[in-house]
Amino acid sequence: MKLYNTLTRKLEEFKPQNPSEVKIYTCGPTVYDFPHVGNYTSYIYWDLLIRTLKLNGMTPKRVLNLTDVGHLTSDADDGDDKLEKGAKRENKTVWEIAEFYSKYFLENYEKLNLVKPDVIARATDYIDEDIKLVDELTRKGYTYETSDGVYFDTSKFPTYADFARLDLDHLKAGARVDFNSEKKNVSDFALWKFIKEGENHAMRWDYLNRPGYPGWHIECATIIHEELGETIDIHTGGIDHIPVHHTNEIAESEAAFEKKMCNFWLHCNFITIDGEKISKSLGNTYTLEQLEEKGYMPLDFKMWVLQGHFQGTRNFSLLDLAAAKSRRLNWKNKAVAAKQLGQIRKTTICDEILKAVNENLNSAAAFSIIDTNELNFEDWQFVDELFGLGLTKDADNAPDFVKRLIEEREEARKNKDFAVADEIRDQLADNNYIVKDTPDGPVWQFLS
Ligand SMILES: [Zn+2]
Repeated sequence: MKLYNTLTRKLEEFKPQNPSEVKIYTCGPTVYDFPHVGNYTSYIYWDLLIRTLKLNGMTPKRVLNLTDVGHLTSDADDGDDKLEKGAKRENKTVWEIAEFYSKYFLENYEKLNLVKPDVIARATDYIDEDIKLVDELTRKGYTYETSDGVYFDTSKFPTYADFARLDLDHLKAGARVDFNSEKKNVSDFALWKFIKEGENHAMRWDYLNRPGYPGWHIECATIIHEELGETIDIHTGGIDHIPVHHTNEIAESEAAFEKKMCNFWLHCNFITIDGEKISKSLGNTYTLEQLEEKGYMPLDFKMWVLQGHFQGTRNFSLLDLAAAKSRRLNWKNKAVAAKQLGQIRKTTICDEILKAVNENLNSAAAFSIIDTNELNFEDWQFVDELFGLGLTKDADNAPDFVKRLIEEREEARKNKDFAVADEIRDQLADNNYIVKDTPDGPVWQFLS
């Protein structure tokens, strides 16, 4: 199986350290607001990654974090904490906000039929470990204190710029003069933030005899170390994480533990909506619920996502979503028909499908194999295992009255009683079923 590794900027053969425990970490959501559909795309691609590893005989151990403190509105260690902002907006406590949006995210995760991570780690459950990590970095001489926090001195970590191929001189020249004058280098970042007197920050822990809270990057470095150990196999995230968040995670982890943090880094690109960047201020966002209100299931959206590649830029439109929806319905109906016609046994087409996906998660190539071949029912079950599109789960679910109506329709047609046959067809349609006549007899399918 080949994956594009951001670390080397190359397509590489993926070899885990131990196939029976492939260590994977995914940067999860900051739980402070309703995610828009674009926020789910990366989790859909990483779901494909997990499913592909499994079908290649590996056993992933996967950790996803929920950021419930310390993610500021700016990546540059200033701005509000997103959770505090959410609490203010909704007149709730930060803990209520974290609880509500965590639950909301995980419910939608399930609706998208995404394989549940082995560990779901809330950042606030790892504060003691964050502090230990900051202490370790201090002991090794990587930190310094300013009036607003403990910072990582990036000049002490010689490979800091490597991962993102950063041009630090250029960064320095471009920095604003008033950009936190206490920082020694422009790229230095907060490991721990102090809460100033009078500052309204409800989540607070004592460290260095002052109230404060952890920086966003240290949360991931800590959780990875606690849950997965020193060198993990795959770390996933969005391309926006490369220059700051992941670069900083690597610096913290490798400086403290003196081990390579991760062998493979996978980064997902963004989608745009109707040609524009998705943003609340542009008003072009959709939540999964809004799509449902328009008649699209979360799995239709998943289908749309998997028609593209995780590294590509994609443009989302309702028109394309409608096409994805009918493609999924078509597949579902083919699976249902195969089952009724006794075309059951798994074929070698599954090997071809997996082979396509093994090339850097190329689901689009696998999809065209599916479109251009006759699949048996067990092939469709394999397609479901690989993509989680819910194609086969209702294959047995036609109620008895549907089967009875189909028999009655056959009878009516035999007797050339076409008025009755048409009436039965309408009755079926009212219940979201259709009858399709095949050379091997009629089969029921879903209307929508
Ligand atoms: Zn992270």
